[in-house]
Amino acid sequence: MRQCGIIRELFYLVRALSTRIKKIIKLLKGLLQRFNKEQPSVHPKAKPTIIPRSDHTISRTTIHRNALKVLYRLHQEGYQAYLVGGCVRDLLLGRQPKDFDIATNALPEEMRKLFRNCRLIGRRFRLAHILFGKDIIEVATFRTHHENAQEHHGKTHDGLIIRDNVYGTIEDDVWRRDFSINALYYNIADFSIVDYTGGMADIKAKRLRMIGQPEQRFQEDPVRLLRAVRFMGKLNIEISPETEACLAKSSHLLTHVSPARLFQEVLKFFQEGATVPTFKLLQQYNLFQQLFPQTLFNPEDTHAQQLIDQVLINTDQRIAEGKSISPAFLITAFLWPSMNQQARLNRSEGMPAYVSLEKAIQTMLTLQTQRLAIPRNVLVSMRDICLLQYHLMSRQGYRPYRTLDHPRFRAAYDLLLLRSTAGEPVEELALWWTEFQKADRAGQEQLIKRVATQHRPKKKRPYNRKKKVT
Ligand code: ATP
Ligand code: MG
Repeated sequence: MRQCGIIRELFYLVRALSTRIKKIIKLLKGLLQRFNKEQPSVHPKAKPTIIPRSDHTISRTTIHRNALKVLYRLHQEGYQAYLVGGCVRDLLLGRQPKDFDIATNALPEEMRKLFRNCRLIGRRFRLAHILFGKDIIEVATFRTHHENAQEHHGKTHDGLIIRDNVYGTIEDDVWRRDFSINALYYNIADFSIVDYTGGMADIKAKRLRMIGQPEQRFQEDPVRLLRAVRFMGKLNIEISPETEACLAKSSHLLTHVSPARLFQEVLKFFQEGATVPTFKLLQQYNLFQQLFPQTLFNPEDTHAQQLIDQVLINTDQRIAEGKSISPAFLITAFLWPSMNQQARLNRSEGMPAYVSLEKAIQTMLTLQTQRLAIPRNVLVSMRDICLLQYHLMSRQGYRPYRTLDHPRFRAAYDLLLLRSTAGEPVEELALWWTEFQKADRAGQEQLIKRVATQHRPKKKRPYNRKKKVT
């Protein structure tokens, strides 16, 4: 009896111990997994190369004085402060930077205390904007990859980054940047450049190289595909073979990007002054087709391609002359050939000309906005520019004066000129409008009379008239 009791005691003891051991094993496994996750996926633990002031070309005279003020202030207060990203890249390439971005280990709240003219923006990841009148210097606290952070890893199963809001150190910050030439840090403490990723060699070789595994990095954020092409186009640089191989097969990833973000990226293309080479590259890597699926690329329809080529040439010219560009006009030009084709199709089904065009515009804009979140005011302009192509054809009575007074007349006339240059049979019409704008009132009346005698109005056919069966 007593032996039985001991055996039972032993049994309970072993059972209790085994559950404890299981728990300990589970705990150890968890710790191990967590430890593995904390290893940065693209962090090669490289030591940075420090390029002293004597060995690089960035002089403080080329840095915007407001950016210098912010850098100095942070440094004086004992924080690390670096110029980073496009401005360092552009200065090294001898170009004028668009903006000056700063990275620091100061937290946003600390920056607010430091700068009276500081506004914190962004809910998920807070950025400091230091305001100098209209000029804004953006200061970001170093960030890290989520794999480095102890909380959730912000990626979907596609590898897409959905959260990006954990502070880190410069060693963490560098690996989340896209290309090596965008990951150079100009240190205000000693005016050196800190290079973790071989960016300086790539600047010298004029080469665009993705940091880490291109496939993974494009998947994480497919907007990098567009950024790659934008930098190649505007900086006129080569792309490294591994990055290119991946770029060439990844255009489909753009479907994972929100239409709002895509529209913002498209706007950047228009503002760089290098739309001709950039749009060639976009077409080459199938990205244009992803952004503008409705745009016609029929090799037999040379008008469409010519129209796009010409609008891009004009855009670069305007930027070079310091003139503004209108996204509404550009996107309309991309879509015009397909709208025109659709309008012809509608007409062949018996719709009146104006309704055909109106319906074609509606169809194309609905399809286009599924890809790009074009704001409402831009859509309204686009619609007006297209509908005015119809009104430009009416040259009787008071109509031309009304068309001329339309706020979107200039853009509509520019599109008409483009259509004429691209070989559409509207040359006479375009010339007429050129003269009409220059003429005084008497001249304008003469021009209207001239059209009236040239073009006798045709008898109107009723809409949807059914053929009589005899
Ligand atoms: P630009 O001349 O167009 O301003 P940029 O490189 O400065 O070029 P920004 O959009 O201003 O581009 O971004 C600043 C920096 O932030 C980049 O240089 C890069 O280091 C980093 N960055 C921006 N977007 C991404 C992204 N999608 N993925 C990774 N890093 C990015
Ligand atoms: Mg920038």
